[in-house]
Amino acid sequence: MSEDARLRDAGEKAAILAEALPYIREFAGRTIVIKYGGHAMEDPALADLFAQDVVLMRLVGMNPVVVHGGGPQISELMRRLGKEPEFVDGLRVTDAETVDIVRMALVGKVNREVVGSVNRHGSYAVGLSGEDAGLITVEPRDPRLGFVGNVVEIAPAILERIIREELIPVVATVGVDNDGQAYNVNADAVAGAIALALGAEKLVYLTDVTGIYADFGDEGSLIPQTDAEGLEQLLESGKVGEGMIPKVQSCLDALRGGVHRAHVLDGRIPHALLLEFFTREGIGTMVEQ
Ligand code: ADP
Ligand code: MG
Repeated sequence: MSEDARLRDAGEKAAILAEALPYIREFAGRTIVIKYGGHAMEDPALADLFAQDVVLMRLVGMNPVVVHGGGPQISELMRRLGKEPEFVDGLRVTDAETVDIVRMALVGKVNREVVGSVNRHGSYAVGLSGEDAGLITVEPRDPRLGFVGNVVEIAPAILERIIREELIPVVATVGVDNDGQAYNVNADAVAGAIALALGAEKLVYLTDVTGIYADFGDEGSLIPQTDAEGLEQLLESGKVGEGMIPKVQSCLDALRGGVHRAHVLDGRIPHALLLEFFTREGIGTMVEQ
């Protein structure tokens, strides 16, 4: 590279860093809840970039909170243990044995992996499940599903304490009912409820599609920006399918409850979080109150 080209290249890099300054100022001290998708986290190289981004967010003074799913990992462990996964309306039928497997996969494996990958870049991640310190209380969703819960209450105190210590909570979405029975809970719903309970500034869903489509299957129907009203109409249109429904629903609840902004981002894009938070680049779908 010529000296001129090298300087130009360096100048561009400096400009990108300078562009981040107003965003760093805006979000310092703000809580950002990130739902890390079961599919978006399967690629180890992307998982490492995700971990870097979350640590960087913490280091510039933001308060990231990670909530993860793990549907594919639960199914894989079930098969290894000789149990065939079964679904009703897209929801996993969860008998007593399955709830044990859910715990092993989400708390014992996926949570440890996310915590481990974050801590390779800076020792800030603290893993916990909804069973810890009363974090997630649930009630049964449908008797046909067994131990699948709907969130009835989030007790955010444990998260607030971890955040106050400038650490990064990483939440596995197992909840408990009033009798202490464990349940599997949809991670999108938990992320929305936690964002609401913490009064988060932003709620981000990292998933495996470009964003929310008005008509899934029609590439031209990607929605770059919308609001709560728009999401409501979208749900009523019936064009939102399995997988996206709990995101749109919990996003709507969070926005109505005071969370300022939500994003559905493509977790397959390297550094999706950095692009969203620190550059003018708009990616995925942004939803404002
Ligand atoms: P995650 O692990 O991120 O929760 P899911 O598979 O549960 O992943 O949800 C994302 C999926 O939702 C997409 O891969 C896509 O197949 C599906 N989907 C259904 N309707 C829509 C829509 N209208 N816009 C975008 N994705 C949709
Ligand atoms: Mg999902």
